[in-house]
Amino acid sequence: MNPQSHARPGIRRLKPYQPGKPVEELERELGIEGSIKLASNENPLGASPRVADAVTRALAEVERYPDGGGVVLRRSIAAKLGVSDDTITLGNGSNDVLDLIARVFAGPGDEIVFSEHSFAVYPIATQAVGADAVVTSAVEYGHDLEAMADAVTAKTRIVFVANPNNPTGTWNAADDVKRLLQNVSAEVIVVIDEAYAEYVEDERYPDTLAWLKEFPNLVITRTFSKIYGLASLRIGYSVSSPAIADLINRVRHPFNVNSLAQAAALAALEDDEFVGASRRVNQQGMVQLEAGFRQLDLQWIPSVGNFITVDVGRDAGPVYDALLREGVIVRPVANYGLPNHLRVSIGRPEENERCLQALKNVLA
Ligand SMILES: *Cc1c(COP(=O)(O)O)cnc(C)c1O
Repeated sequence: MNPQSHARPGIRRLKPYQPGKPVEELERELGIEGSIKLASNENPLGASPRVADAVTRALAEVERYPDGGGVVLRRSIAAKLGVSDDTITLGNGSNDVLDLIARVFAGPGDEIVFSEHSFAVYPIATQAVGADAVVTSAVEYGHDLEAMADAVTAKTRIVFVANPNNPTGTWNAADDVKRLLQNVSAEVIVVIDEAYAEYVEDERYPDTLAWLKEFPNLVITRTFSKIYGLASLRIGYSVSSPAIADLINRVRHPFNVNSLAQAAALAALEDDEFVGASRRVNQQGMVQLEAGFRQLDLQWIPSVGNFITVDVGRDAGPVYDALLREGVIVRPVANYGLPNHLRVSIGRPEENERCLQALKNVLA
């Protein structure tokens, strides 16, 4: 038997998600030490110190199944966001929730709309359920929300909007997002993926949570992987109408979020000081990298996330490889339709400096 020919067509055409290269792997391959990774938008400060204590306490009961309903954590998230508990659905990372949403609402013959240069998980979730991707053109690397609304047809089940977007760091203002919601049929689920929301300080950034009652087809996703620094534990969530939460819960694996992740998230949520410090380090690092790129005469895409995507002015593949040999791991984004760009996660000042120096060496 040839398993390929038995796989469903969407899956056969699927390219697996390419994660950032781990430091250990690079060092083993090249026999080097002291490398840095600025490739997966991880928090360079780690996580709140409260997390280690919470996880250690939770370790005492690893033999027990986690709270499948995530009751305590959901209550805490809801209180923080000013919404009710029954709007929150926990996922094994927010990617899990994105995938569940596709499974609940779309299947073969249906369409899912997302933008060019947007997050790699949308095509994967789309093809995994056998739906057809409708990809709208970007404007200045960002989402063209008017084009996205226009792309909706009677077959459309979901629109995915990353705000801010990864890997471009672009974002859409409240007026434009609201117009999208007004222009799209209430029969279509509109997912606003806000993985980097906590980094954005511009007052034109939408408070989508305030719109949930007005738009029952709106789903907002957030994560603990980015500003909270819990990427390894895999925990994220959606905020939606209780009716949508109920549907997602029907396909959600009963214990999709482990108890260490739940304990960690609960502790992380309470540490506003750590979140504030993470935001400051990010802003300063952004300024530092922009200044460095300017000195190198490189263009970049203005970003409000914890990463910045820079145009190296040539095929970025060899530049990426040369940076690896300098012990600096960044992210190639050719698979996002950006063959001349590299995405650099904002690091600590010394990491940013090292990255800029390596880039200077490599481009010389
Ligand atoms: C990192 C990221 C996520 C979050 O992924 P997790 O599964 O929560 O780790 C979601 N959306 C976008 C656009 C991202 O960049």
